[in-house]
Formats: sequence, structure tokens, C-alpha cells
Amino acid sequence: MNNALSGGRTLYMEQPNSEIVQCSQCGAKNRVPLYRTNEKAKCGKCGSLLNPAAGEDEKPYLLRCTECGARNKVPAGKTDKGPVCGVCKKPLRTEEIFKPQPVMVTEASFQKDVLGSPLPVLLFAWAPWCTTCRTFMPVIDGYAREVRGRVRVAKMNVDQTPNLASTYAIMSVPQIFVFDGGKLRENFPGAMQKNEIEMRMSRYL
Ligand SMILES: [Zn+2]
Ligand SMILES: [Zn+2]
Repeated sequence: MNNALSGGRTLYMEQPNSEIVQCSQCGAKNRVPLYRTNEKAKCGKCGSLLNPAAGEDEKPYLLRCTECGARNKVPAGKTDKGPVCGVCKKPLRTEEIFKPQPVMVTEASFQKDVLGSPLPVLLFAWAPWCTTCRTFMPVIDGYAREVRGRVRVAKMNVDQTPNLASTYAIMSVPQIFVFDGGKLRENFPGAMQKNEIEMRMSRYL
């Protein structure tokens, strides 16, 4: 595993996406860029940590270089410091860590959002007419929130993606597909509970 970091370069200066976070200590509302919400953003008024869990969450992110495929470890506080791949020195796509999810996948976005993801991908194939799929959706949404920045969780409506459904021979829904490094690794037909999903995904983390 490569630990690639370089200071002094900030690739993503312009970050239009931000969210309002209320300080739990003084109640002041702070605008925080999305790429910092998992980090140690502080209240502008009283200086308290806006996300108290951020102090404990020092686990580095594991990002695959989308140029050469090497996996790189990026410390939680360095994601906005323009880290580059330890092998090929190309910039790591750290902005993808904070992309809101689940990501809705279309035939047009599949290449970029699934095959080109720097994170392992759990793809949930579903259809609007499938009752089991709809029942199962909250489990997927809950898992998506839990693993944001670690696993990309994506949803694909097979009615709207007939070519992909054919490519991956999707005969039944719901079905879970796992992609990593641009390749299909596993697929699991049927619904799964969250602890089973966590267990099956643990080998990709
Ligand atoms: Zn405050
Ligand atoms: Zn690389």
C-alpha cells in the first residue's frame, strides 16, 4: 500500500457545495464546504468542533488512483491538500470522497461513477415495480450514509438502464453488485440485511 501525500498544493480551491451546520455548543450557524464536513471544521463564533465525531474519526481514506489503479492511503485531515498517487504522481480524486450518496447511476454516468470510482462500489440494481426492492431501499440508504467516503453506494434502476442490465445479465432484482478498480468483483441476487452487507464489503475496505 502506498502512502502518498504532498503538501503545499490545493487542487480544489473552488468548492461551491457547502452545507449549514449548527454549532452544538453556542447554536451559531456555520457554512461548511462539503469536503470539510467530515473533518475538524470549527465554529466561527466559539471555536468548538462542529462535528464532535470528527475528532475521533482519524481513520485514513483508502483511495484508488484512477490513473494507475494503485491504492493510496489519505489521512482524514489531508484530503483537501492535493494528495497525489504514490506510484504515478497523478492527483488523487479526493473530491469523490465527499460526493453525496447513494449515487443514481444512468447509462451515461456508469463509466465514471462505477467503473471509474476511486472507492469500492456497491451497486444496488432495482426496479420501481419490485416490492422487495422498495422494502429494501431504506437499508441501502442507511448503509450509504454510514460508509460515505469509504464505499460508494450507487443505485441503478434497471428499467432505465437496459443496456447495462443486459451487459451484466441482470435477470432478477433486487441484486447487489460489487465493483472495485473498474472491475466487477461479485454479485449477490436478492435482499440482504445491513450487517450482511457490512460483512461482505469488509474485504474491500
Ligand atoms: Zn459555536
Ligand atoms: Zn497512480
